[in-house]
Amino acid sequence: MARIVFMNDRLVPENEARVSVFDHGLLYGDGVFEGMRSYSGRVFRLDAHIDRLWESAQAICLKIPHTKEAVAQAVNDTLAANGLTDGYVRLLVTRGAGTLGLDPNRTKDPQVIVIADTISLYPREHYEKGLRIVTAATQRTQPAALSPRIKSLNYLNNIMAKLEGLQAGCVEALMLNHKGEVAECTGDNIFAVRKGLLLTPPPDAGILEGITRGAVMELARSAGIDCREATLTRHDLYTAEECFLTGTAAEVIPVVEIDGRSIGTGRPGPVTAKLLAAFHALVRQ
Ligand code: PMP
Repeated sequence: MARIVFMNDRLVPENEARVSVFDHGLLYGDGVFEGMRSYSGRVFRLDAHIDRLWESAQAICLKIPHTKEAVAQAVNDTLAANGLTDGYVRLLVTRGAGTLGLDPNRTKDPQVIVIADTISLYPREHYEKGLRIVTAATQRTQPAALSPRIKSLNYLNNIMAKLEGLQAGCVEALMLNHKGEVAECTGDNIFAVRKGLLLTPPPDAGILEGITRGAVMELARSAGIDCREATLTRHDLYTAEECFLTGTAAEVIPVVEIDGRSIGTGRPGPVTAKLLAAFHALVRQ
């Protein structure tokens, strides 16, 4: 079925949704994006996604040529135009078309694009049995080189690690930062339960501050689970009672094996199950 895509100021059929070959989003991955999910016709934490998009854009000196309200409206309009109540939304802003040189000041017309689609979910079995993951040799970009807090159109760092995961037969891979500390996975944040505490790496570990991560931290606190940001090593994960990942598509997904070490009982644990249930309740509210 042909989708309807939002391009800059209007909805167009997908075959009319085109960008220039001179767009720096294509030439250099120069641009920013968000991935969101709608439940029963409502985008989960739309404002938080819009704010993060604006922060990413600010960090790369990209001025988004619309108001936040107009972009939020475009997201909702695109979902409606595609008849989607439960779907996935990709919102992106490119630098716009320019010369073949790097200079962003010689580009014009940033492209604001919204694509809505059905969501492809991890199979149910992954939630019931938990994921096996491996550590990628590819380190997460060092924040002093390029901050992982910017959700940029250049995801090669993550893709390199994802390839390693796939080669090892895993759908996700753990990424360490330049200090060898746990950062995150290729498209998900990571949590560990240790001695009853729920721990997750802080932003300065070199991570994207996930919207789902933020929601899970709030849910944990309101369920009386002590949740803290902490520097984690692989040893902390290997010896954890439980481990899980969070992300827009994955929601909350248990990890039961890391680098061949079985985590905790080797089965999804009670804290993970509690937070997954709480997350489901929150998104369906
Ligand atoms: N880390 C990375 C690198 C990601 O790409 C994502 C997915 N956008 C996440 C974490 C999870 O973020 P969120 O919960 O906002 O989807």
